[in-house]
Amino acid sequence: MEHFEYNPKSLKADEFISHNEILESLKYAEENKNNRAVIDAILAKARLEKGLTHREASVLLACDIPEINEQIFALAKQIKLNYYGNRMVLFAPLYLSNYCVNSCVYCPYHVKNKHIFRKKMTQDEIKKEVIALQDMGHKRLAIELGEDPINNPIEYVLESLKTIYSIKHKNGAIRRVNVNIAATTVENYTKLKDAGIGTYILFQETYNRQSYETLHPAGPKHDYAWHTEAMDRAMQGGIDDVGIGVLFGLSTYRYEFAGLLMHAEHLEAVHGVGPHTISVPRLRPADDIDTDDFKDCINDDIFSKIVACLRIGVPYTGMIISTRESKKTRERVLQLGISQLSGGSKTSVGGYSEPEKEEPNSAQFDVIDNRTLDEVIYWLLEMGYIPSFCTACYRAGRTGDRFMELCKNKQIHNCCHPNALLTLQEYLTDYASPATQKIGEEMIAREVATLAPQTQATTNKWLEMIKSGKGRDFRF
Ligand code: SF4
Ligand code: SF4
Repeated sequence: MEHFEYNPKSLKADEFISHNEILESLKYAEENKNNRAVIDAILAKARLEKGLTHREASVLLACDIPEINEQIFALAKQIKLNYYGNRMVLFAPLYLSNYCVNSCVYCPYHVKNKHIFRKKMTQDEIKKEVIALQDMGHKRLAIELGEDPINNPIEYVLESLKTIYSIKHKNGAIRRVNVNIAATTVENYTKLKDAGIGTYILFQETYNRQSYETLHPAGPKHDYAWHTEAMDRAMQGGIDDVGIGVLFGLSTYRYEFAGLLMHAEHLEAVHGVGPHTISVPRLRPADDIDTDDFKDCINDDIFSKIVACLRIGVPYTGMIISTRESKKTRERVLQLGISQLSGGSKTSVGGYSEPEKEEPNSAQFDVIDNRTLDEVIYWLLEMGYIPSFCTACYRAGRTGDRFMELCKNKQIHNCCHPNALLTLQEYLTDYASPATQKIGEEMIAREVATLAPQTQATTNKWLEMIKSGKGRDFRF
C-alpha cells in the first residue's frame, strides 16, 4: 500500500486517516497494553475529562488487565454522568426509499438484490408515516435512503423534509430531522442545510481502505476518498453538526476505533468542531446477509469496551445506539456512554403506518429490540433514566461550535435537564400508558426538586401549562 504522511489538518482522506499512523498506533497499543506506567499516565489524563488522542485511547482499548478495565468502565460511567447526567434522548429512523445503486456486500439494499421488496414513499405516504410517528410521541427523526440519482435525487430529499416539518397532528410535531444520505457535493449539502436539517449522518462503514474497496465493489460509494472526505464537504456547505460511525464487524475493531478517533481529531483540527455524534452499529443479519460471512464480528464484551473507551476518548460527543441491539446489550452500554437511542423503530420503508408482514420485505436489517416506544420509555424510567425528546439546541441555533463550547464547559447541563423534564411531560400527557405516566410523573417530581430555584419556578410553570393543554414546546 502506498505510504502517506499523517496529517490531521489535510483534506485528503489518506493523510488524515493515515493507514500507517493507524498501524503504528495499534503497534504502540499492543506493546504498551500491560505497561502500568503508560496506562496510569493515560488514565490520569483521561480523568481530566477532556478526552484522549487516538493513540492513547487505543492503549486503553487493547489493555486486558482486569483491574484496569474496571477503572476504565468506572471512569466511562463517571464521564457519562458528568456530561449527560441521567438523560437519554430518543429518536426514530424513517426509511424513505430503499432503491440503491451501490453494491455494499453487507447491506440487503445492494443493487444486485432482486429478491428484496423495493419501495419509495410518495409525499402522501410520508405524511402517514410521520403521523404514525407523532402518535407514538416522537419528536426527532433520522431519515434514511439509499443512493440512487434517478429514484432518490436531492430534490426528493428536500421535498420530503418540507413535508415532514409541515405536519402538525394533534399535539405532535417533528422538531428535528437528521439526515443519513450518501456522500454528496458541497452544493447539495448547502441545500440540506437550507432545508433545516439537524445532524448530517454518514457512516464510514470501515476506515480500512483495502477492506472498504472490497466491501464496496461497484457504484459511487466505491470511491473511498469521496466517501471519507464527505464530512469536510458537508461542513464547507454550512452543516455544523455531523455524525460519524463505523459498522463494527467489517474490519478489525481496533483499526476502526483508531480511525473513528482520527476522524474526530481531523474535524476538530480543520473545522474547529468535532463530530456531534458517533454511532456504534454492529453488523446484523438481513434479507440476503449472513453474519457468518464476516470474520471480524465482535462480541458483547468487546462492544462494551469500545463504548467505554469512546466515552473517555471524546467525552463531549453524543453516542448513539439503535434497535440493532438487544434490550440486554442496550442496558449494559447505556450507562457506559450512550446518550441517544432509538425506540419503537421500523427499518422497512413505510413500516410505521403499515407494518410489513410478507416475505420478502423492505427492511434494511432485523430489529432485535422490538418493544414499543412506550415500553422503552417505561424501561428507561425504571432504570432511573430521564427519557428526553429535547431538540432545544437545534431550535435555539445552538449548533456546531456554539454547542460544543457549552458542552465542553458542561454548561449544557443547565438546559438539558429541565428540557428533558418538559419534553417527558409532553410525552406523558399526550401519549403514555397509565403505568408509564405514573412512573414518569414520579420521576419529574423528584428531578424538578434538584433544579436551581429560578429554573425550578419556570419549569414548574411550564409543566403545568403542558398538563393543562395551554402550551407545548417550552425550552431553556
Ligand atoms: S449501505 Fe447504503 S449505500 Fe450501501 S447498499 Fe445499503 S443503502 Fe445502499
Ligand atoms: S438542551 Fe441541547 S444538548 Fe441538551 S438535550 Fe436538548 S438538544 Fe440536546
